[in-house]
Amino acid sequence: MHADLSDDEKDHEPVISTGDLPSGERVRLLLTEAHERYRTVTDGHVADYIPALAAASPDLFGLAVAGVRGRTFAVGDSDATFSIQSVSKPFVFALVCDALGHDEVRKRIGVNATGLPFNSIMAIELNDDRTMNPLVNAGAIATTSLIPGATADEKWQHVLAGLSRFAGRQLSIDEDVYASEAANNMRNQGVARLLESYGRLYFDPLDATDVYTKQCSIDVTVTDLAVMGATLADGGVNPVTGVRVVSADTCKRVLAVLATAGLYEQSGEWMYDIGLPGKSGVSGGIITIAPGKGGVATYSPPLDEAGNSVRGQLASKFLSDLLGLNLFASAPAILPAGVTPLPA
Ligand code: GLN
Repeated sequence: MHADLSDDEKDHEPVISTGDLPSGERVRLLLTEAHERYRTVTDGHVADYIPALAAASPDLFGLAVAGVRGRTFAVGDSDATFSIQSVSKPFVFALVCDALGHDEVRKRIGVNATGLPFNSIMAIELNDDRTMNPLVNAGAIATTSLIPGATADEKWQHVLAGLSRFAGRQLSIDEDVYASEAANNMRNQGVARLLESYGRLYFDPLDATDVYTKQCSIDVTVTDLAVMGATLADGGVNPVTGVRVVSADTCKRVLAVLATAGLYEQSGEWMYDIGLPGKSGVSGGIITIAPGKGGVATYSPPLDEAGNSVRGQLASKFLSDLLGLNLFASAPAILPAGVTPLPA
């Protein structure tokens, strides 16, 4: 049975973007409803190309929302930790944007969609930009290569400290996931070498890939992801700790690239359904950002063919619609009494 959400209740508050999240009670109700509705969906497969990820239970399912006023809400497996994987990419991009300026990053990485899978070699060969954008592996490894730091360890420390500020707590690496991916990382190393040959990598290829692999192995909970997303929604200030992590200008650029390419070759479908910038990762996390309102995060390991969490996409759509977050949803303007609409 689904949680009790009558049609009347669905109509209770606006389901278009109105400048704030609904009441706490309503956010909690909708999270519970989304969890009930989709927890029995069994489509998709847990990623196994990184052996350590294959051990995740397909039943894990957690949902969280964090608002820009610092409220957080979570249901389901909200304490389960998992490696952040590709959901790290926009945050590392944000750190690099802040350090180098968004125009420099546009020149060195690119901000267009590839329309191809996240680990595509073809995308590098087909496009003059080579890296294309910071959210596919090629562009992400190149972005990590631009992180401030003279040595691989300095870069890694910069990434870990930066992502911890986004989450509002000290994060740490999952050593098993890191060892597992590092031992099976030939494709990403090949991508890095190829970018080096095109002059589109800015650090030693093996070291850049290693720091990238570590960044993907950082452990998070679904609540961490919601707070990280809410920081991008809040002009770069973490709404729980009050600490400025990146500039408001950086957030604007990061969200634009997320809107273009956050769900890889499914980015158009995602935008069509959800109408918000989002980012997925192969361990089963997805973040969705409602600028000026907050972050929504989902965790469920079974993925579709493009590597995006099946339950996560369903829950994100439900929450985007019923929390009134879709950026493209509007309603006719209510004119003040006595004002008549202009003639057509
Ligand atoms: N670490 C993973 C990889 O490089 C991240 C990919 C993802 O989450 N889509 O293959």
